[in-house]
Amino acid sequence: MGEMNINPISLAFQKEYENEFLQRYYVDSLWQFRFALLLVTIMYGFFGFLDTLLVADFKQTFWVIRFGFVIPVLSLILIFSFFRFFKNIWQYLLIFAFVVAGGGITLMLIMIPENYTYYGGLMLVFFAGYFFIKLRFFYATIAGWTTLIIYNAGAFFFSDTSMELIINNNFFYVAANVIGMFAAYNIEYFTRRDFYLKKQLDAKTEQIEEANRNLEQKVKKRTAQLQEAKERAEQSDKLKSAFLANMSHEIRTPMNGILGFTQLLRQTSDPEEINEFLNIIDDNGQHLLALINDIIDLSKIEVGMITLNKMEFSLNHLFSEIYDFFKKEEKINSGKVTLTIHEEVDGPESIIIADNTRIKQVMINLLSNAFKFTHKGHVEAGYSFHEKELLFFVKDTGVGIAPKQQEVIFDRFMQIVVNHQPKHEGAGLGLAISKAFVELMGGKIWVESALDKGSVFYFTIPFERGSQSNHQKQSPKPNKMSFNWNNKTILVAEDVTTNFLLIKSVLKKTGATLIWVKNGQEAIDTFLERKDIDLILMDLRMPIKDGYEATREIRLHDPRIPIIAQTSYAMVEDREISIQAGCTDYISKPYNLNELLNLISQYI
Ligand code: ADP
Repeated sequence: MGEMNINPISLAFQKEYENEFLQRYYVDSLWQFRFALLLVTIMYGFFGFLDTLLVADFKQTFWVIRFGFVIPVLSLILIFSFFRFFKNIWQYLLIFAFVVAGGGITLMLIMIPENYTYYGGLMLVFFAGYFFIKLRFFYATIAGWTTLIIYNAGAFFFSDTSMELIINNNFFYVAANVIGMFAAYNIEYFTRRDFYLKKQLDAKTEQIEEANRNLEQKVKKRTAQLQEAKERAEQSDKLKSAFLANMSHEIRTPMNGILGFTQLLRQTSDPEEINEFLNIIDDNGQHLLALINDIIDLSKIEVGMITLNKMEFSLNHLFSEIYDFFKKEEKINSGKVTLTIHEEVDGPESIIIADNTRIKQVMINLLSNAFKFTHKGHVEAGYSFHEKELLFFVKDTGVGIAPKQQEVIFDRFMQIVVNHQPKHEGAGLGLAISKAFVELMGGKIWVESALDKGSVFYFTIPFERGSQSNHQKQSPKPNKMSFNWNNKTILVAEDVTTNFLLIKSVLKKTGATLIWVKNGQEAIDTFLERKDIDLILMDLRMPIKDGYEATREIRLHDPRIPIIAQTSYAMVEDREISIQAGCTDYISKPYNLNELLNLISQYI
């Protein structure tokens, strides 16, 4: 609480408050002042009785002073106190009352200086003036000393009061004034302090109340947030269960196809049927793989593990890869729907720096949807350059999306929420994953669609131009299908028997000699023992010692031996980590069989 800031003489507050204080002081004083003035008036009259006893000769004159002058003045002031104007001049009127009452007695004393009893009367006037009628310190002081001066002037000039008596009286009256001043000072000081402290208290109370209100609001807001979080958690709990049920369905369907047709395969020897069944198994396997990739992506998005892997590449090249992908899928040439690719610029101009894997993934997601939901007409895809960004689009003439649904299709698990039961194949993850990727790349994704007319999906990414000279970098992979590795020895580190068997059958035709080890330690030992190994196929996740460790150790002995990492983690980062560990190249399971052969052929 700050110090009370007042003028030491007038006692007025120096900053705010003064007007408010005066107002309050007036209101608080009004009734006491009226009572005091009434009492003083009555006493003034009452003491007239003494005149008859003590100064009978002067009784008439004194009564004129009392009843003809002092009492009417006091009464008039009392009456004024009931009028409005009184408030502004009341302290001056009280000074006047003080001086008039004192003056009345002074007159009586000038007339009869030897009437000692009446000196006490003047004393009473001082009393009443300083303590009773609510005069403020400063005004009371003026009135008190003025009265004393009037007395002295009267006694000195207009009466034959002895010097001794004047001096005597002054001792008392000066003392009375000084005592009165001190007391009045204190009274007003403490009245002001009370007022000031109350103001401070009010301010603090107001602050506390305000803080309380804020707190209440905060508590309310927080409660609402918690409630919302709780609802979200419950909702997400429900969604997760639904998601799992849906996922199980999604996994079982292709699994069912794979297992069922594998059994049928055993029972038939018709080459046409065998081929058909194998295609179905392959299709279902691909479908399953795509789903698992989605789930992995989603869980990585969830824990914030997705990183960007920017590189220089040609957009046109990317689009032709995408085109090939769908052509292979036979979606385009099924006859009903056609795919058109729009390329904005030619060749080298289309080189940019970005994460091509993610862009491709998003484009494939959008295009797969476009094909899935388009039964006749065409699908178009392309890109265009804008000042600071690249805009990609996928347009179809399919079933379209209702406005309400457009709001939620980018949400995870939405398919379950909107449809309750999935109506078509699809886990409802594609768009959620696409959105996360696009946002990670610093762009936006949105849709414009009309029911039965079709949809256009757009997404942007920041545009970063690549150096055009590197255009030819994309190395065309050898596509030779028969290899002769009769005199080659390959060490296969792989703990899962089926995987080894697969590798064995793939490499059978090549004539390569295979050595099978089942963990990293064995791989190291065997490599060091035998000097004839030409290449190592290294599984990364193995017991005892994993592939990373084994690679590191082998590298200490032989920096040149080609080591190809193979893993089922299938995460972009794995490639980086395995290369860092010393692997020469990397292939992720499940792999296309030709892919494996091509890769090995590059190093053997
Ligand atoms: P999924 O296709 O696996 O269900 P997505 O996240 O890819 O999951 O798509 C979510 C939903 O958005 C789809 O179920 C579908 O209702 C709607 N949708 C997406 N793309 C299109 C499109 N091109 N035309 C019509 N509807 C679409």
